[in-house]
Amino acid sequence: MDVALTAVGATHRGRVRSQNQDQYWIATQPWGVVVAVADGIGGYQGGAEASALAVAVLARELGAAQAMGPQRLRRAVEAANRTIFEVGRGRPELNGMGTTLTVCWVAASGVWVAHVGDSRAYRVGAEGLERLTTDHSVAAEMERSGTLSPEEAEQHPQRHVLTRALGPFPAVEVEMTHWPWRPGDRLLLCSDGLFNAVPERRIHELLRRFRGQAGVDALIQAALDEGGQDNVTVILVEDQSPVEVPDGR
Ligand code: MN
Repeated sequence: MDVALTAVGATHRGRVRSQNQDQYWIATQPWGVVVAVADGIGGYQGGAEASALAVAVLARELGAAQAMGPQRLRRAVEAANRTIFEVGRGRPELNGMGTTLTVCWVAASGVWVAHVGDSRAYRVGAEGLERLTTDHSVAAEMERSGTLSPEEAEQHPQRHVLTRALGPFPAVEVEMTHWPWRPGDRLLLCSDGLFNAVPERRIHELLRRFRGQAGVDALIQAALDEGGQDNVTVILVEDQSPVEVPDGR
């Protein structure tokens, strides 16, 4: 199967915060497309530093790689964790710094997702959005264990408290999943500044109307229209290869 992948992204500071601690990264390689979203946590300096380090390590580890595989992807995320941890050690102003990191490697053989934190990857389907990641937050873990209903989790005071992040500890457990990629598929990566502000139904509606950069811009504008409380980052990966129509006339 041939795929013709395009990836576009954008990030915005929002309307309230003085600084954008989100980062994104896009690389197109012979072995596919790699895209990443990172959302920094841990104070004014630490959050920005951690998300910037995460994408810098990804670029170093994967930007010039001759070949790709799930283990290489996982190791790149683990390397980013170690770097953030080491840089933060012994610098009190960076104490507790960390970041989310969601990385997708898209190729004809499928999508590999490496994920830590509460940024998200979605498949954009005809009927709606399909989540490819779980949120590593206190409220989401309580929802999964049945302690909270989805509605309670959405209102929970600890919904933004992460149970996993890159950087605070010397080792991290990376969520690794693999999904098929079908001709015409689309993939959305975003920070919580999008899905906390804009309902998934509305996100899907906008992505049915807009493709590529126009889709990215429409989603960021929708978050800003809802008040832009948080930094917001969006990446779209789309398969431009023509969908084969059976020749059965
Ligand atoms: Mn955020």
